Amino acid sequence: MEIAIIAHDGKKSEMVQFLMDFKAIISAKKIHLIATGTTGKHIEKAGLSVQKFLSGPYGGDAQIAGRVAEGKTDMVLFFRDPLGMHPHEPDIAMLMRLCDVHDVPLATNPATAELLIKAI
Ligand code: PGA
Repeated sequence: MEIAIIAHDGKKSEMVQFLMDFKAIISAKKIHLIATGTTGKHIEKAGLSVQKFLSGPYGGDAQIAGRVAEGKTDMVLFFRDPLGMHPHEPDIAMLMRLCDVHDVPLATNPATAELLIKAI
């Protein structure tokens, strides 16, 4: 199972903490983590293995959207910062739209992500 992890700057530490809290499930279920570039670096620093794509503003969200469209990614955990402005807003909208098109579970906040990860 492949899960995509993305966190905006203001949410990266919360995402790392989230992954640490559910590390046992992630390794027991042999989940393949993928992430946008900078989020991925934070995940690696915390000791988890992750396949990194480009940084979000440089196309990472678009790359992950492509994997969702191709049926490669089974779930997206995307901790968005609702108070920030993002130059790649069109890519973010595309990713969320493609999750809906392909019926791929998408969590945009930690409370929903917890429900999803506990369900796998
Ligand atoms: P980043 O991208 O992990 O490279 O910071 C996340 C994003 O802003 O979409």
